[in-house]
Amino acid sequence: MSTPVTVAVIGGGQLARMMQESAIALGINLRALVEAEDGSTGQVTVDKSVGEPGSWEAVAALIEGADVLTFEHEHVPDPVLRQASRRVSVQPPADALCYAQDKLAMRERLGAMGVPCPAWARVDDEAALEEFGARVGWPLVVKTPRGGYDGHGVAVAHASSDVASWWGHGPLLAEAWVPFRCEVAALLARTPSGRIESWPVASTVQRGGVCSEVTAPAVGIRPETACEARRIGETIASELGVTGVLAVEMFVVGEGADERILVNELAMRPHNTGHWTIDGAVTSQFEQHLRAVLDLPLGSGEMRDPATHAVMVNLLGSRSDQPTRALADALRAGGERAKVHLYGKEVRPGRKLGHVTVVDADPATALACARACVEALRGGPDSTDLP
Ligand code: ADP
Repeated sequence: MSTPVTVAVIGGGQLARMMQESAIALGINLRALVEAEDGSTGQVTVDKSVGEPGSWEAVAALIEGADVLTFEHEHVPDPVLRQASRRVSVQPPADALCYAQDKLAMRERLGAMGVPCPAWARVDDEAALEEFGARVGWPLVVKTPRGGYDGHGVAVAHASSDVASWWGHGPLLAEAWVPFRCEVAALLARTPSGRIESWPVASTVQRGGVCSEVTAPAVGIRPETACEARRIGETIASELGVTGVLAVEMFVVGEGADERILVNELAMRPHNTGHWTIDGAVTSQFEQHLRAVLDLPLGSGEMRDPATHAVMVNLLGSRSDQPTRALADALRAGGERAKVHLYGKEVRPGRKLGHVTVVDADPATALACARACVEALRGGPDSTDLP
């Protein structure tokens, strides 16, 4: 038999694991460069190798004979991306991915495009931070431009001394602290030939910088605001030449007719705020990402049933060292509509171990069922205080 279409992916976490599920249905071979043989993706992917994304040898072997190279995280060094681009189609391309890798580059570029963002400054030292704080008012949100995720590399600073230990590794991004009313995410996929398909904008709740709950379509914002969020997402995708899934995280500020959006950050890959699409949308973000990076026709991003909401709740840490042992309790607690997705990861406090989605006509009912299901998987009400 000749080789099937092969998508090479860098990263072996839950995102590549869920790409694998979609690859199976499409008959595509997913080949993953994973951190560990028995990690979240390693457990379910046959065609895998263990290696570092920064190793050219590892990436060269990964792309040998592949149709496309894509990612489940942004932490791939630019020289490796550039070298890979000479041999294989890299989607999203390095020229787009750089804006998801570097928050300073992203702020500069979005600012130049006129996309509304929080007030920000590149700060090279404490004096510059003090000056920015005096201009926009404290507290500030200080971020490391590269390598951050899930709130790592993000701090609310009430004084420059709060980030005294952060200097010495290059410039920092300082932002005005935004008193947002809620957060939303615009999610879409774009193909190399420029076709775009958006999903309904979702409202999101982050706890401690980590995505905790997502509702789609968004609740608590005006339809005009959702339209604007979608428009901003699509503009960013076209202008930056993003391919595959793009998630744009945004803050919603102001009330009523004054409600507005400020862009927080970009992710160019399937994203936690889009996990609900597996069970709630016509096309899941994982299937759509594969279709998009291969420049195949895209599927619909609409709700499977437009009269419903999808609510996703993350399982962050667990009292049990094996959440699958709690499946009976969890499925009972979540009810017949609860869809459990566990990632096969070793339990650690606060770690993303899985998620539950419930689709229901009433978002409050869906939320209650999803929370009850997650609570059973977690073995108790909350794990954030666990050792
Ligand atoms: P990460 O790259 O770790 O996801 P983010 O830049 O998205 O970091 O920040 C994580 C969370 O911190 C956001 O979802 C938001 O809740 C909060 N946050 C980030 N920037 C600001 C800001 N300028 N004002 C208020 N809260 C912020």
